Amino acid sequence: MSYLVLARKYRPRNFSEMVGQEHVVQALTNALTQQRLHHAYLFTGTRGVGKTTVSRILAKSLNCTGADGQGGITATPCGVCPACTDIDAGRFVDYTELDAASNRGVDEVQGLLEQAVYKPVQGRFKVFMIDEVHMLTNTAFNAMLKTLEEPPEYLKFVLATTDPQKVPVTVLSRCLQFNLRPMAPETVLAHLSTVLAAENVPADAGALRLLARGARGSMRDALSLTDQAIAFGSGRLEEATVRQMLGSVDRSVVFSLIGALAAGDGKAVVDLVEQLRAAGQSAATTLEDMASVLQRMAVQQAVPDMPVDETDPDAQETARLATLLPADETQLLYSLCIHGRAELGLAPDDYTGLTMVLLRLLPFKTGAAPQASAAAEKTLKPAEAATARAASVAAASPAVRVDAPAVAPPVVPVAQPAAPEPDESPPTTGATMAASRRPMPSPRANRRSKMPATSCRWRRPWPSTRPCSRCRCARRCRAPFKRKNRLQRPPRGRRQLLKS
Ligand SMILES: [Zn+2]
Repeated sequence: MSYLVLARKYRPRNFSEMVGQEHVVQALTNALTQQRLHHAYLFTGTRGVGKTTVSRILAKSLNCTGADGQGGITATPCGVCPACTDIDAGRFVDYTELDAASNRGVDEVQGLLEQAVYKPVQGRFKVFMIDEVHMLTNTAFNAMLKTLEEPPEYLKFVLATTDPQKVPVTVLSRCLQFNLRPMAPETVLAHLSTVLAAENVPADAGALRLLARGARGSMRDALSLTDQAIAFGSGRLEEATVRQMLGSVDRSVVFSLIGALAAGDGKAVVDLVEQLRAAGQSAATTLEDMASVLQRMAVQQAVPDMPVDETDPDAQETARLATLLPADETQLLYSLCIHGRAELGLAPDDYTGLTMVLLRLLPFKTGAAPQASAAAEKTLKPAEAATARAASVAAASPAVRVDAPAVAPPVVPVAQPAAPEPDESPPTTGATMAASRRPMPSPRANRRSKMPATSCRWRRPWPSTRPCSRCRCARRCRAPFKRKNRLQRPPRGRRQLLKS
């Protein structure tokens, strides 16, 4: 018998087997038990969170006849009646799955809708499931609108998409929308444990934790990675082999890097990066792993009395580092790590980029602050440095700010005497006058723009007692007079009529 991959073998067959989507399961279960069924559902969410699975279970719930063949619509499909087994096997006549990614056009959708006029052959309801519905063309969406709004009572639509932004609002408004959430690593970890126990595959907790994190919220990714890891480790899941497969960095190196940065030890950081280079570990993964550890440290710093997961071997080390690195530096280092990943491509090579990103924290550390400001002062000219120093003293010491209103009127801000505005001061010297003066316009331009018009276009002096007879201007001939005259004049025939 051919091997069925874990993701398909352990696809949930009813709502109770679904994990991580309790909000959707509860809403659908209540709707099914109370028989308050909408005619169109839209399931959204990233890959591998259960959109197709939910739609299949919904189709089974609608069509299940129970083990004795007498059942009605139910939230707990039996799994043994012909409808349930046929839908699971993918041969139920009244359940149609259309892949909109490859059937995008109006013809395919029309072909589907033509079947809507016929009553279900085998079951109670016809269910049209359109996967990746955002890939449909606009005309295909429009062709669907009428049936989607008022389908026959035996027809249900189930739409699934990873990108609901691309679905027209006219379609969205006709559907009941459910957003399937990405899976939390703990949910994935628990599900992987049950699956591997059922498969009789020995696995250690560290390996499962790595796989759960590597899945990034998708259960299908988690099960595919597990399949791969079982093959890689020849039937066993061990942390070292899974780490090697995923290319993730040894946690101890990540902890050592954060510890070295907390201690401000630049040499240790450079040595550890060299060690990573020698081992061929990815620089991007290092930054990613550091970011995930720093996130947990920040949570620990913000909520110190949060219970620590005893089963997680990293928890102790994370808690220890959270006490070593101040909260503001944790935030800064986290920001450096996540933004540094984009920089790696610009660096001469990945490890140079990694070194620079990590060493960037050291000048910001509180112990290094006076040194840094002294270095900055060296680059300024003496006069500027004095001004900057005066300004920083004025800004920093509250005593100056308190004294200032006593010597100066209260309306004058404290910072103003330090740098007077040259434009606003009276023009005392030639230099300031030249600075404040605008560039001189040419005499011609000046005459055109500034001098008042003394005559109209036809040289009639202005101001005149009456409008110019030729162009009928009152002041200045700026208007397109010919056009105006033509519009104002009555048509030729009527003019003659008026004359006579
Ligand atoms: Zn059934």
